[in-house]
Amino acid sequence: MKILILNSGSSSVKYQLLDMTEQTVLASGLVERIGEATSKVKHVRRPGTDQEHSHSEAMSIRDHATGLTRVVELITGPETGVIASVSEIQGIGHRIVHGGEAFSAPTLVDEAVIQGIKDQIPLAPLHNPGGLAGIETALRLMPGVPNVAVFDTAFHQTMSPEAYRYAIPKELYSELKIRRYGFHGTSHFYVAKQCARILKKSLQETSCITVHLGNGCSMAAVKHGKCIDTSMGLTPLAGLVMGTRSGDVDPALHAFLADNKGLSIREIDTLLNKESGLKGMCGHNDMRDIHDLIAQGDTDAQVALRVFCRRVTQYIGQYLALLDGTDAICFTAGIGENDATVRRLSCATLAGLGAILDTQRNADALRGQVTEISTPASLIKIFIIPTNEELEIATQTMEVLGAKEAERESGTH
Ligand code: ADP
Repeated sequence: MKILILNSGSSSVKYQLLDMTEQTVLASGLVERIGEATSKVKHVRRPGTDQEHSHSEAMSIRDHATGLTRVVELITGPETGVIASVSEIQGIGHRIVHGGEAFSAPTLVDEAVIQGIKDQIPLAPLHNPGGLAGIETALRLMPGVPNVAVFDTAFHQTMSPEAYRYAIPKELYSELKIRRYGFHGTSHFYVAKQCARILKKSLQETSCITVHLGNGCSMAAVKHGKCIDTSMGLTPLAGLVMGTRSGDVDPALHAFLADNKGLSIREIDTLLNKESGLKGMCGHNDMRDIHDLIAQGDTDAQVALRVFCRRVTQYIGQYLALLDGTDAICFTAGIGENDATVRRLSCATLAGLGAILDTQRNADALRGQVTEISTPASLIKIFIIPTNEELEIATQTMEVLGAKEAERESGTH
């Protein structure tokens, strides 16, 4: 069964074609700078195998439809292709950033679902239009192939009001749906399921803290398989320190900056989303550069790393208190999977709470592998669990399509 995964942003489309029978990636790639004078396309056939073949091109791609047309040509083409025709694709899974309160599970796309995603645009004005363009283009280019929308917010919809409501006038919730939503849900769900598998328990028996540290960073408290709290909020700006996002700051900062620097609300929003975080503190948003700077004695980089890790520790503490019993803390994504120093600093003061890091195992952990990095005496296990959002989207897409098929069969029998 072949599933195409599309992650369509405002000016980019990332894609992966997966063979779900073999659990392999047939092709992956990225179309970027859609709408600019020169767009870029990168396509890799059979990545990570001895048949790997990379193809890059620069051309003018005016919109998502042109971009996706090119993707279809590449995945079916003579040199770059992996399938003879799109009729081999059994389903298309779309990553959609915001499902609001309307979507708490992956959903087969129809007219009502498209309208439902449109209705969430005020909550994600930068992200949902790209996702919609991806869906609408896929429906046109590959008619007859079912499309499934997989929402970044869905996993967090199990939070209770005390987790998702903000202490602001209640009308703001009823009128504008201002509340905590949380993001990276596909990754948190995937990692929680992997954690259950490693512990040889069902997901319903598993409680864990998932720590996703990539370009964007967020955490989730998962109790008996369900998310009970998460660090991102109405938008992905809240919570942990990130590459260019501040994470939590005093909410009065907007007024302070407007009064003292004459910045507009838009400028402050850009400052907190694009010029803050690690980049704001030391000029670099990639954690590898920060380690290089620290090695050269850069104190700003040292402070940035410490602030980043302290925030992770604080959220772990919060979630340990809320969960009332946790099986594991699971680090994932670019920094979480690869950066032993970040994991060591983030876990340095958790021994009293029952989570003891084995510093040697942590330092020796191999890239890309599930690894237990806590000591045998640790009451709470600490794991590195590589995330795989595309595989999770494909799995959820198959589940939706399987359920649809079962529904059809039971209707006809
Ligand atoms: P995204 O959120 O875009 O999916 P990733 O999960 O790939 O991002 O994480 C990207 C970040 O991971 C980079 O910005 C970099 O800071 C960090 N990273 C990647 N590899 C390493 C490494 N070996 N050591 C430390 N940090 C790393």
